[in-house]
Amino acid sequence: MARRILFLGPPGAGKGTQAAMLSRALHIPHISTGAMLRDAVATGTELGRKVESVMAAGDLVSDDLVVAIVDERINQSDANCGYLLDGFPRTIAQAEALNDAVVNAIGTVVLLEADTDELVARLLKRAEEEGRADDNETTIRRRLEVYHSETEPLIDFYGDAVIRVDGMGSIEEVFARIMLGLAAN
Ligand code: AMP
Repeated sequence: MARRILFLGPPGAGKGTQAAMLSRALHIPHISTGAMLRDAVATGTELGRKVESVMAAGDLVSDDLVVAIVDERINQSDANCGYLLDGFPRTIAQAEALNDAVVNAIGTVVLLEADTDELVARLLKRAEEEGRADDNETTIRRRLEVYHSETEPLIDFYGDAVIRVDGMGSIEEVFARIMLGLAAN
C-alpha cells in the first residue's frame, strides 16, 4: 500500500532532517516544498522570481503556486509507492487541495513539537551554518507567527491521523520516537 506521510511542526522542529532520514529508511521520496522553492529561486526560474521576496520575508507563497508544484511532483512515477511531505500543506486550503487531488492523500501525520526557545536557537544556528536568506531573527519570528495562525489549525484538520512526537533531544532520539510512533500506528 502506498505510504503517504506528512510532517507537521513549526520551523526549526527538525522536519527536514527527520523527513530525509525517514525517506531513506522507507524508500519513498522526500518532497520538501521549501527546498523546491529555494531551488527555483537559486536557478532564477519564473517561479523563483515570483516567490523570492515573499520567502525572504518569512511569509507564505500563494496556495495556487505551491499546490501546482506539489501536484506535479506527486504525479511523478517515483511517488507511486508513497511519499513524505515536508512543509506542505501549510494552510487548510492547501490540505483541502491535496485531499481533492489524491484519495486518502495522507495516512499519517507526524507532528514534531519543540519549545519556542529551542526552535529559535536551532534556526539561528542554521543561519550561521547554512546562510539561508530567511534564517534571521526578524524573519524567524514572522515564520513562527505564520505557523501559529496558518498551519497549526491543520492539527485539528487531520485529527486522529496525527502522531505527536517530542522533537527535543538528539536527531537519533527523535528519529527513534518517530519510528516507534509509526510502528504503533
Ligand atoms: P521551509 O523550508 O519549509 O521552512 O519553507 C521555507 C519558505 O518557503 C517558507 O517560509 C515559505 O515562504 C515557503 N514555503 C514552503 N512551503 C510552503 C507552502 N506549503 N506554502 C506556502 N509557502 C511555502
